[in-house]
Amino acid sequence: MKITAIDARRVAIKLTEPFVISLGAIESADTVIVRVRTDEGLTGYGEGSATPFVTGETPETVLGAIAMFTPAYLGQSPFAIEHLHAAMDAMLVGNGSAKAALDMACYDIMAQAAGVPLYRFLGGVDGRVETDMTIGLDAPDAMAAKAATLASQGYRQIKVKAGSDDEHDRTAISLIRAAAPDAHLKVDANQGWTVARALAMLDCYREHGVQAVEQPLPYWDVDGLAYVRARSPLPIMADEACFTPHDASTLVRHDAADVINIKLMKCGGIYKALQINAIAEAAGVGTMLGCMLESSLAIAAGAHLVASRRNFVYADLDSFKDFDDSSVVASAFGLTPPFIELPDTPGLGVTVREGLF
Ligand code: MG
Repeated sequence: MKITAIDARRVAIKLTEPFVISLGAIESADTVIVRVRTDEGLTGYGEGSATPFVTGETPETVLGAIAMFTPAYLGQSPFAIEHLHAAMDAMLVGNGSAKAALDMACYDIMAQAAGVPLYRFLGGVDGRVETDMTIGLDAPDAMAAKAATLASQGYRQIKVKAGSDDEHDRTAISLIRAAAPDAHLKVDANQGWTVARALAMLDCYREHGVQAVEQPLPYWDVDGLAYVRARSPLPIMADEACFTPHDASTLVRHDAADVINIKLMKCGGIYKALQINAIAEAAGVGTMLGCMLESSLAIAAGAHLVASRRNFVYADLDSFKDFDDSSVVASAFGLTPPFIELPDTPGLGVTVREGLF
């Protein structure tokens, strides 16, 4: 089987409300959808969702990188995934979202060729994945109201954004805990704290029964993360500190994380995500599969990956919730909160909107 054509489209996705974290506010989410066609009639789809302040990418750079990578893909087999990643890495460092789009489309084709859903192609047996839901920064009472709504909808795990104002965060977690007394709570500071603030806030979160805290310190401070983890009453998760398998190895060797948050858009797709997960699992470190502001297409890819590996302790595959992504997909997966239910159709099982290409 040979790849014969690659097309990429920039598509606007409407957010039903702005999403605010300690790094900034996001009002709209343009994404890039890629279509990979083969000489055997199989077509795969992928998505590159740029988050400039995390991955340094924009929709324009994603399109530019895909155009750069395309000659290496044309005429090659979609099964040559190791070769294709090496070719991309030789051309451009980073650019994980662009690489993830092409990687995802190749896995879509490989699983279609095998006649099984992607999670089975990757080794899994159950296409049901529990996801959490995330509450962005807002007034504490508004955040608590959202927690109550999510709990009433059936979500059992809630991730709460924090990291800009400690008094706000203390009030918010107290109100959220009261509004959703049974929820499994995680907190994501998105690099917002210093070591001293992190230790103080971790004590506060322990008092409210929070189960884990994500990326308390700036992404580059691995030593600080190890210092905080050694003194933390709660498990520490690394997100912005881990893009590549090399980053995962560094975190493990520094005893800096209990859980690593893998995102397809950071690491460059399923192939590299599997490497990170293997490094973490071998070191006794759990993984979470997180997301950027991705449509249901990339969320489906993430869910397939989670369904294929036991080491994922959490799935944070929630960006579709506040989206109208009908500009991208016609259908992707079922949702019975808190579960994403992947279809049994071969490949990703995603149908893109008619007329997208
Ligand atoms: Mg995070």
